[in-house]
Amino acid sequence: MRKKIVAGNWKMNLSLEEAKTLAGELKVKIDHHKDTLIEGAGNNMPEVVIFPPYVYVTRMMDLFMYYDGVSVGAQNCHHEENGAFTGEVAASMIRSVGASHVIIGHSERRSQFGEDDKLLAEKVKLALKNNLTPVYCCGEQLPEREAGKHFQVVADQLLHGVFWLEKDQLERLVIAYEPVWAIGTGKTASPDQAQEMHAHIRKLIRDSYGEQTAENISILYGGSCNAKNAGALFANPDVDGGLIGGASLKAEDFFEIIKRRQENG
Ligand code: PEP
Repeated sequence: MRKKIVAGNWKMNLSLEEAKTLAGELKVKIDHHKDTLIEGAGNNMPEVVIFPPYVYVTRMMDLFMYYDGVSVGAQNCHHEENGAFTGEVAASMIRSVGASHVIIGHSERRSQFGEDDKLLAEKVKLALKNNLTPVYCCGEQLPEREAGKHFQVVADQLLHGVFWLEKDQLERLVIAYEPVWAIGTGKTASPDQAQEMHAHIRKLIRDSYGEQTAENISILYGGSCNAKNAGALFANPDVDGGLIGGASLKAEDFFEIIKRRQENG
C-alpha cells in the first residue's frame, strides 16, 4: 500500500531557535488536530517527514523520536561509506542519530554541486544499506519541457539513478517529481501536468518491476506547492503527497498542506 506523505525540505534556512519554534508549533497543531478528529479518522493522517539542515537533525530527533507520525530525515548524504571527505556526512551517521529518510538528487544538488545519476546511484545504495528511506528526486528543466523532452529526461534520471535496484530495494524508495522550473519560483505545475508525469513515472516502474511494485511506491510532487494549490494537486490519483520547500518553513502553511493531503486521502 503506498503511503500518503507530506515532507518539508527546510534547505539552508532557520536558526536553531527558529527551527525549534517551527517544530514545536507543528507538533502542537498536529496534536490539536488529532484530538479533534473523530475516532478512526486519524488513521488517514499522512506521514509527515521534516528535513532540517544536518546540524539540527539530532535536535529534531529529540523532539520527534517517540512522536507518532512525524519522521526526521537529512537533505543529503555522501556517496562513500566514510573517510577523508572534509565537511561531508555519511548515510551511516544519519542513521545512527535515528533519522529515517534522506533526500537524494534534489535539483539544487544536481545543478549546483554537479551530482549526476551515477553518483546519485551510489548514494541510494548507501542509504538503503543503512536502512534509510531515500527520497529520490527527478524533474526536468524548463527548456527540456519546452522541447517536449520532459518525459524522456525523467525516464533517464530514474533509469540511471534507481532502476538498477532489485525489486525489494526499489520498493523502499519514495520518488519525488520536482519540475526544476517550479522549485522556489512560485510557478506550480498544473494538476494535469503533475498527474501526467506521475502516471508516466508509475508506468515506468510498472514496465520494469510490475504492477504491484508500481502500486506500492509513493510519488510526491514538489515545486511551489502551497496551502492554496495543494488540494488540487493531491486530488490526482497518482500524486501521493508533496515535497514542500518554502511553504514548510511556516508551521501554519505546512500544516494546512498536511490537512489538504488528509482531506484528499
Ligand atoms: C524543494 O526544494 O524541494 C521545493 C519543492 O521547493 P519549493 O516548495 O520552495 O518550490
